[in-house]
Amino acid sequence: MSNMSRRGFVKGAAIAPLAVKSLALEQAAAPSERFDIVVAGAGHNSLATAAYLAKAGYRCLVLEGRPIIGGGVKTAELTLRGFKDDVCSTAHAFIQANPMLRNDELGLRNFGLEYIDPDPVFHVPFPDGSYLTQWRDLDRTCAEFAKFSKKDAATYRRLLAEFDAIKPVLGAASFTPIGFGKPLNDRLAEAPRGKLWQRRLAMSAWEIIRDNFEDDHCRTFLLYMSHLAAEPPDAPMTGRLAFSALGQQRTGRPLPKGGSGELTQAMARVIEANHGVILTNKWVRRLIIENGRCAGVECDDGSSYRAEKAVLSTIHIKHLVDMAPRELWGQDFVDGVDTWQAEHAMFVTHYATSEPPQFAVEGGKLSPVEAGILSSPLRALRGTYDDSLGAPTLEDPALQVICCSVADPSRTPPGMHTVKVLGWQPYELKEGPEHWDKIKDEVSAANLKQLRRFAPNLTDDKILARFIESPLDLERMNPHFWHGSAHAGAQSASQVGAMRPMPGWAQHRMPIPGLYQTGATTHPGGSVTGAPGRNAAMVMLKDFGTSIEEVVKKKP
Ligand SMILES: Cc1cc2nc3c(=O)[nH]c(=O)nc-3n(C[C@H](O)[C@H](O)[C@H](O)COP(=O)(O)OP(=O)(O)OC[C@H]3O[C@@H](n4cnc5c(N)ncnc54)[C@H](O)[C@@H]3O)c2cc1C
Repeated sequence: MSNMSRRGFVKGAAIAPLAVKSLALEQAAAPSERFDIVVAGAGHNSLATAAYLAKAGYRCLVLEGRPIIGGGVKTAELTLRGFKDDVCSTAHAFIQANPMLRNDELGLRNFGLEYIDPDPVFHVPFPDGSYLTQWRDLDRTCAEFAKFSKKDAATYRRLLAEFDAIKPVLGAASFTPIGFGKPLNDRLAEAPRGKLWQRRLAMSAWEIIRDNFEDDHCRTFLLYMSHLAAEPPDAPMTGRLAFSALGQQRTGRPLPKGGSGELTQAMARVIEANHGVILTNKWVRRLIIENGRCAGVECDDGSSYRAEKAVLSTIHIKHLVDMAPRELWGQDFVDGVDTWQAEHAMFVTHYATSEPPQFAVEGGKLSPVEAGILSSPLRALRGTYDDSLGAPTLEDPALQVICCSVADPSRTPPGMHTVKVLGWQPYELKEGPEHWDKIKDEVSAANLKQLRRFAPNLTDDKILARFIESPLDLERMNPHFWHGSAHAGAQSASQVGAMRPMPGWAQHRMPIPGLYQTGATTHPGGSVTGAPGRNAAMVMLKDFGTSIEEVVKKKP
């Protein structure tokens, strides 16, 4: 089948923006206009920082290279008119614990943000015809585990209680900038049973799952949920990922009504309501340095913008380092950039369909918002080996299958559906990453064949259009997804906490005075958490002589 999409993801090319809402994002801002803060890149984190700074009274200018803001949190018509596709993220689970949403600190709900809470939460069908479905209701989920092992069901319930007890400690560390509070290990040392959690977090996800659960179906389900972080489950310090399924037992996997991009659109409205300006089609290519200080930015189109107080970047560190003379960064920073590692890259196919995927379950069929295909623990453990081969994984691929329209009919014409099929692939091919342009149709077809083993109803006549994003396309669309990394780079032991982006520079303050960094290359990393964004706001506001608490208290 040929690619039936209407647009390409070439840098600077347009994705069809949704006609549904017309935010005036193309306002003019004369380069001579005065701004306190210039923000380079409009991902959800940098928008969050800008929203807090704008609320504090600082005049903010946000410059986004793409025609639509949002980075990994945006919605566009990729296949057919009237089909709203989440270009990257869909599930907004982790951000629910962020005080920004939990306490609605920015008033995002007044700007149209509304969440849908799908039930079931997640469904994993197995090759032997059995399946495990996670429901919002704990007893119902435990009954699913008990189909395979009563002991595993009891373990799931026990570990959930243990995770509930430690979650406030883990959350506090995520939503606090590095250096602003005690390091996680110290916080754990003081918590009841915290020493057990110190050990668990240092272990691998696989060790915890293997040691606690006896049945391979239950293990596969838990490994699948840990796998979404794109880290090898047997790597040291991935232990927290063993608790991914337990975390979402409480939060669910909420999705914004109307599309993932509703979050970033609401953030943009907060910035504009506080006299900020957002310009699109503005690729930042150089930092303006005056007297050793970052004083603004210059764009690809020759325009330049000055910042009276600070520049905030969400440009990938691999690119940022080339935007100012090397000697200004210092050797430690340059070493940190040189040794930065990518993660298992993502491969995505978006479909417009006339039916949702239907999975066989006892007494009928189930069409969940999210399903995962992973045939066994061994398949998960082989992922790193596959990734090192420099060839696409075509045999028995692990997949994530998302059909938002079953819970949110506002995303499609009546009776129609959006289906997003995601997999994990190596960015580096033996023939070079450009080879992805030649083979992406073949890889997409292999993923569809795999999906049809479990949802045979998705035959060609049900598929109206499709749009493919290879690892290379993802990087072209958003250079912050360096080498196809959905979280900007691995979240491995060497790149988390005080090591993100590198030791010595994890506090959002960059080596060049006046320059700050946020987004997935900073603590606590990628996914839709808003944590790097709020944390960067905390650091900047403190440097400006105020605090996030003061700003949040301010009346709109
Ligand atoms: C296919 C896919 C599915 C995903 N699904 C989920 C999910 O369901 N749930 C979840 O929690 N996470 C998911 N993620 C991960 C999540 O989307 C990202 O980790 C997150 O969006 C990163 O946000 P950010 O704020 O760090 O920056 P980004 O979203 O990466 O935004 C950076 C922005 O900066 C812009 N930019 C970069 N360089 C420049 C420049 N030089 N000049 C101007 N602008 C520039 C980019 O165009 C982009 O708009 C997914 C990712 C992918 C790729």
